[in-house]
Amino acid sequence: MNIKDNLSQINNLISNACHHANRPVKQVHLLAVSKTKPSDLIRQAYQAGQKQFGENYVQEAIEKIAELQDLDDICWHFIGPIQSNKTRDIATNFSWVHSVDRIKIATRLNEQRCSQDTPLNICLQVNISGEASKSGVTIEQLPELAQYVSSCEHLTLRGVMAIPEKNATKSTFDKVYNLYNSLKNQYPTIDTLSMGMSNDLSLAIESGSTMVRIGTAIFGDRS
Ligand SMILES: *Cc1c(COP(=O)(O)O)cnc(C)c1O
Repeated sequence: MNIKDNLSQINNLISNACHHANRPVKQVHLLAVSKTKPSDLIRQAYQAGQKQFGENYVQEAIEKIAELQDLDDICWHFIGPIQSNKTRDIATNFSWVHSVDRIKIATRLNEQRCSQDTPLNICLQVNISGEASKSGVTIEQLPELAQYVSSCEHLTLRGVMAIPEKNATKSTFDKVYNLYNSLKNQYPTIDTLSMGMSNDLSLAIESGSTMVRIGTAIFGDRS
């Protein structure tokens, strides 16, 4: 497995999907999801030009962040479910959080970010399929959560994140885009629609995604 080759393949897929959708390639960012993968593989990806990495598990992530702190402009995104006893580690180790889905978590992240120079970038995770087992704010509660996060001094509301279920159709992706777009019209800091993984990247880009989160296609299967 060659991480550099995998990255250039994914970047080609992204630019093809952008051309196909008539969108500028610069509009779509690649987030490399490195959960369960060791820091030497992350370092290889960084050396091949990848700067943004996504992690799901707090303890695992902070160990790798420490091992890679010599990499200057590396940028860490937290994308996993959030337990309230983990918010301090998230607020102090990451630049972005994609999985904020309730006011209690936003409150804690805001308070615990105050020691840092820059606000924490926030995407609100929406439970788009309405599955009870999935995390994410409901569509009904999204406006109130957006209003709350936008009022937090140490948070910047950047957008919406969703994980459409396996085999979701274009209409599900469009629904996420419409939620994103109506929030974007209300909040000038919003510029990010975090949607699309290894299996649905092209559909997500066709539907307006600005950040795709790719793990397997870069780092291989997770055992
Ligand atoms: C694991 C994960 C990904 C990456 O999934 P792949 O199928 O490996 O590309 C993206 N987003 C979230 C929230 C994840 O947990």
